[in-house]
Amino acid sequence: MKETNLKKIAQNECANWSLGNCIGCDVYIDTGYLERNNWTPVFLSIKSKKADKPCTVDKGCEYFNNFVVK
Ligand code: SF4
Repeated sequence: MKETNLKKIAQNECANWSLGNCIGCDVYIDTGYLERNNWTPVFLSIKSKKADKPCTVDKGCEYFNNFVVK
C-alpha cells in the first residue's frame, strides 16, 4: 500500500489518530488467562514512545495492523 494511502486510512479509521499525532493507546489481553477462565479483562495502556508524536503508520504500526485493517 502507498504511504499516502496508509496515512489516509489512519486518519479516517484509526482511533488513535489525533490531528496527525498518535494518542498512543494500546489494547491487550492475557491469552493464558482467557484459556484458563474462558473470559479475560481487556487492558488499555498508553505507549509513551508513540503518544503525542506524529503517526508512524508509514514505518509500520502494530495497532494499525491488528485493529484498523485486520
Ligand atoms: S501510529 Fe498507528 S496507532 Fe498511532 S495514529 Fe498512526 S496508525 Fe494509529
